[in-house]
Amino acid sequence: MSETVSCTNRGDIAVVSVDSPPVNAMTREVRAGLKRSFEALRGNKDVKAIVLACAGKTFLSGGDMREFETGVQDPGYHEVLRLIEDSAVPVVAAVHGTVMGGGLETAIACHYRIASEGTRLGLPELTLGIIPGAGGTQRMPRLIGLEPALDMMLSGKPLTAAQAKDAGLADIVTSGDLIDAALAYARDLVARGAGPRRTRDRRVAGGEKVAEVIAARRAQVAKTMRNRNSPNVLLDAVEASVSRNFDDGIAFERGLSIQVERATEGRALRHLFFAEREVSRIPGVRADVKARPVRQVGIVGAGTMGGGISMCFANAGIQVVILDTRQENLDRGLATVRKNYERSVARGSLKAEEREQSLGLITTTLDYAALGTADVIIEAVFENMALKKEIFAKLDAIAKPGAILATNTSTLDIDEIAAVTKRPQDIIGLHFFSPANVMRLLEIVRCTKTASDVVVTALDIAKTIKKLGVVAKVCYGFIGNRMMDPYGREAEHCVLEGATPEEVDSALENWGMAMGILAVYDMAGIDIGHLTRVERAALLPKDPGFYRPSAMLTERGWLGQKAGRGYYRYDGADRKRTPDPEVVAMLHEEGRRLNVVQRKPGREEIQQRCLYAMINEGARLLEEGVALRASDIDVVYTAGYGFPRYRGGPMFHADTVGLRAIYDRILEFQKILDPQYWQPAPLLKQLALAGSSFARHQAEQLR
Ligand code: NAD
Repeated sequence: MSETVSCTNRGDIAVVSVDSPPVNAMTREVRAGLKRSFEALRGNKDVKAIVLACAGKTFLSGGDMREFETGVQDPGYHEVLRLIEDSAVPVVAAVHGTVMGGGLETAIACHYRIASEGTRLGLPELTLGIIPGAGGTQRMPRLIGLEPALDMMLSGKPLTAAQAKDAGLADIVTSGDLIDAALAYARDLVARGAGPRRTRDRRVAGGEKVAEVIAARRAQVAKTMRNRNSPNVLLDAVEASVSRNFDDGIAFERGLSIQVERATEGRALRHLFFAEREVSRIPGVRADVKARPVRQVGIVGAGTMGGGISMCFANAGIQVVILDTRQENLDRGLATVRKNYERSVARGSLKAEEREQSLGLITTTLDYAALGTADVIIEAVFENMALKKEIFAKLDAIAKPGAILATNTSTLDIDEIAAVTKRPQDIIGLHFFSPANVMRLLEIVRCTKTASDVVVTALDIAKTIKKLGVVAKVCYGFIGNRMMDPYGREAEHCVLEGATPEEVDSALENWGMAMGILAVYDMAGIDIGHLTRVERAALLPKDPGFYRPSAMLTERGWLGQKAGRGYYRYDGADRKRTPDPEVVAMLHEEGRRLNVVQRKPGREEIQQRCLYAMINEGARLLEEGVALRASDIDVVYTAGYGFPRYRGGPMFHADTVGLRAIYDRILEFQKILDPQYWQPAPLLKQLALAGSSFARHQAEQLR
């Protein structure tokens, strides 16, 4: 049996090697092994230098996420890293792969660093709502300087090996065998008589301006990371790298680190980390169900969505054939795709060869027969049931046996679409979000008859094209849009009650939503939602105020950004939204005409009404089994709807507020607002009265 941490002597150089698949996380076992090895090496006169390296695809990749729940077991990080840094002979970290968080903090506790080309090194803790807690906030500024260390920690973005060398983080970058190069470097250090070079003994470059620098960063964080606490805590810790001696700084960092770990923000971001891994576990689908191979994809409709979806597959190296009704539609669609790629090249996020490679994988056709060899065909034509049925009948006739036929519909009943084919087991919804090549969310809509291996293939596709695939059942709006419905309803009603669109949107934005919902409607086109409501008129509440503002704006052709006006005006050179007094007056007048009570709801009421209406609908989705788990809903909202990650998603947020408090508030709204909308979902009521939470409910369900 191979040991997790082993030590071998290569002449007078000791190589301490970690082998803890799959990613050499800093588990308790790894820390214990490092402690044992470095203790054994202490005082060994035959060893003149030490190389710390890892087997497998990466150096120590980071901390052990499971330890957040259990607390860090002994030996702790500080004890082990101090032991390494204390070594009387030089310690060279030989790094490759993804060296993140605790992994990088270990590397910088070593005295020298050599990196393989292709290594990425970063401190992404803030993305998990925590701060580097193994000395990173104290050692990194000492090693690379105050500003570069702040850039690294605030952005969470890793450096390439070359950037690490420029920053002074890596001493050498090698394209050859890493261990050989590390040994040669260690021998060279010994020959030169270079002793240990301890990071903790360095002064922080740029430290003389610490007060100004930290103040400027605080101002930046207040704008770019609104409502978040951990970035400010990080700044406190980094400030201490200058204002305190190393040991005091480490103790200070430790206190702050524990504080942010326990705070809601840290728990929320960790919740999402696990929730995003959980989405692909589908109860009832056996583990041995295999995905169908996907080598070629057909797309029907070269519009906004068809083009974006094509890019997703081409970027993953999969061949795409796009079909549309007329050559000019294909040409226009492909031109948009090309423009998108050009923009990425201009921005520097894509190489010209990669653009050519992706474009080379996309072909177009007017002939259904060309889709006959596709493994998956995704329909993305206009949102019209009759049209979609006609297309699925055609696809059924030409698609090869076993091909998966998917629709990108946002609202239509996919069971009804599946029924026109002779292969309902192969039909599924793949609901992409706009812009499809950018948004991470993919709702996978399982129809009544969809086969298990088709669901597994859809999840596999999501991974291949780097999306988060969340499985839902067929219902109006699936998970995301169905919960948006009551959220938007409240926002619109608040305007009829005397709030301005700006007040509504800024209440939501201040709370943390990426964009207020009325501004979102302006961006997407107010007519889109309005038309779906016209189609579903018979099913809608008997309430003349229901989405009345959207209806009025659509009737006047004030459809949002594309018309230059909607809830707002967009006529400045920068096309930024500005309040439109005419619209405000019109909507307020309409509210009075409809005898809507003029409550002029304040910021907190707007936030609570929109969010609690959404959460209540989420509880219904869980009851109905449309969503498998509360945490799936959280993934949908944070990946697809601009819900702030640091609040963990709507259902996690509900748990942090307390379901009882939300339930009670809904009952209050029932008294003062339209009671037809404020009926607590039975599941919410049950959990609230039992003092339970969505998280506990989920854990009990999975047991
Ligand atoms: P779009 O109007 O931009 O594009 C539709 C394309 O389908 C056009 O190129 C049109 O020529 C083509 N088309 C129409 N009839 C066709 C036929 N019979 N055969 C082949 N091609 C045909 O529409 P879009 O915004 O891309 O939306 C497409 C689908 O995606 C809709 O079902 C919509 O609800 C859904 N959707 C849209 C968004 C969004 O934000 N735009 C988001 C998620 C889902």
